[in-house]
Amino acid sequence: MNSDYNDVFNLEGPLARALPGYSYRPEQAAMAKAVGAALARLEPLIVEAGTGTGKTFAYLVPALLSGRSVIISTGTRTLQDQLFRRDVPLLARALGLPMKIALLKGRGNYLCRHRLELATQQGTLLAGEGGAARTLARISRWAATTKAGDLSELTDLPEQSPVWPQITSTRENCLGSECPQFSNCHVFEARRNAQAADIVVVNHHLLLADLALKDEGFGDLLPGAEAVILDEAHQVPDIAAQFFGQVWSVRQVQLLMRDITAEILAAGVRDASIAEAVITVDIRLEELRRAVPGGQGRHEWVSLPDAFLDVLPELETAISHIATQLEGLGAGAGTANCARRSATLANALAALREMSDDTGLRWVEANPSGLLLQYTPFEIAERLREYVESRPCAWVFTSATLAIGEDFSHFAARIGLPEARTVRIDSPFDYRDQARIFLPPHMPQPQAPAFAGKFIDACAPLLEASGGRAFLLYTSYRGLAEGVRALQLRFPNPPFPVLVQGEAPREALLNRFRELGNAVLLATGSFWEGVDVKGEALSIVAIDKLPFASPDDPLLKARLEGIRRRGGNPFFDYQLPQAVLALKQGVGRLIRDFDDFGVIVIGDPRVKTKAYGRVFLEALPPSPVIADSAVGAQFLTERLAKLRPALSRASQVT
Ligand code: SF4
Repeated sequence: MNSDYNDVFNLEGPLARALPGYSYRPEQAAMAKAVGAALARLEPLIVEAGTGTGKTFAYLVPALLSGRSVIISTGTRTLQDQLFRRDVPLLARALGLPMKIALLKGRGNYLCRHRLELATQQGTLLAGEGGAARTLARISRWAATTKAGDLSELTDLPEQSPVWPQITSTRENCLGSECPQFSNCHVFEARRNAQAADIVVVNHHLLLADLALKDEGFGDLLPGAEAVILDEAHQVPDIAAQFFGQVWSVRQVQLLMRDITAEILAAGVRDASIAEAVITVDIRLEELRRAVPGGQGRHEWVSLPDAFLDVLPELETAISHIATQLEGLGAGAGTANCARRSATLANALAALREMSDDTGLRWVEANPSGLLLQYTPFEIAERLREYVESRPCAWVFTSATLAIGEDFSHFAARIGLPEARTVRIDSPFDYRDQARIFLPPHMPQPQAPAFAGKFIDACAPLLEASGGRAFLLYTSYRGLAEGVRALQLRFPNPPFPVLVQGEAPREALLNRFRELGNAVLLATGSFWEGVDVKGEALSIVAIDKLPFASPDDPLLKARLEGIRRRGGNPFFDYQLPQAVLALKQGVGRLIRDFDDFGVIVIGDPRVKTKAYGRVFLEALPPSPVIADSAVGAQFLTERLAKLRPALSRASQVT
């Protein structure tokens, strides 16, 4: 086998024999070569692989052939499942390499037999939570037959179900070797399998929780790995910031109170004072929630009212009091564990209250599942670097969006590896032929009231030419709402189906978009990345504004403050490169295959009027830039006509 992997990737190789419709891509072989070299030398590597490179196989082939024990970390659990169930076994077979592959998720994804038992005993407490008892009965039937205990097998159990935390464990509530179910425990079995495997597939949350020693967790697995490959690595710095900080959640306390009630019931303890103490904690939690101004959102600690800050010490005292009461009970492992958890939560709250604001930012997030009190450090790069350097293995970071042009310095600095070797692999797609970039002339400034309407007006000729087939991507929920209204005004009876984010869950909405084939989807947030719609169903990606993150977000403030403190320029060192990478992600939704075509629209006039606009334009695919919507409309009409001559002839007759 050559170290350039041509024997594997060429048209006479094992991949061509195993994969129907396989095509040779020199870019894929080039990336495999770079990854193989990093694995051989046990060095860090950062690789940007343009869309269409086939980066999954480009890192899997050298990983499998290296004979090393490799951890592969993905951005989402869906990708994790796909790698474990499809890609890795397929390649291992094609390469004739029998190997042990394991899937490891966070413990919150596995059934906890002990807690299922507790929840079943405590059934009455769940009454009034919308069929929870029926759900529990169904889970018990599944629990009797499942091998892995992976809750994704229960496809109709939503993650938001109130039952979920009742039947899964956390590091705090797990009884470990003292658990009566320890020998049958799915969490520990998954970890044992992972330790014995050649290739372990994890996700970034699990990996970073482990690095930050926040369990979840497989702290005992990572030291044995010789290589860690992080796909969708652009997400890593933000996820790391979560784990390197502190989080204290109201939900954790509520779960603890519920567990205390269940454990004392199971232990046959009749102690009215504990029940009263639980009620006191619940009252304080309610006071805390009511003291947060303005419903949902993120609030800086310093902006919180006294009413909020005053409840915190009372809450801390109430939780500590329960810890003392439970310690005195001596009623078994379950109540002892609840006593430890109470003490830990009270101490964590005290630590958060007293934390210095010199090294990080404290903030509160109110969301539908409760309140989170958080501390985010200004700097995570140094800590990531320490972790990487403390483990002498090959670290490979890869994604389609890591560089600004040829420059990786922004991402490399964020992960603390400014000297890491970097490689950029161009997309094999022919963007000059396959796409056009339309920058509408005469657009108002993005904050102007007329902006949303003008943006739809600019897109309208294209939408008419393509008969829909578009993503309209907005940078904010407010922009999205204005966009929906503007589209209704411009197309009171739209000649295409209109889908709006929030009408259905993300995956359901995307499936509907694919099935319809000519829909227009208006969305924001998560639709900017990880969405793959091939073919003419997606022929326009229109982006309203340059995706600068909201300056009011406390998390962003923490990062900018960190940059300021080390003498950097927050705009040029962080906000601009982040926005460029986000734009690349959004634009990357359009061309997903060699036959795809379409028009990218960027409505924000600042790409032309501001000096920094050049940085955005240079980061876009090398497609012709047009300023006339008629040219874009003609491009779409011609391509669609070529694709379906019969349909085109029919429409010309009518
Ligand atoms: S060992 Fe922990 S995770 Fe496993 S069944 Fe017991 S409590 Fe649940």
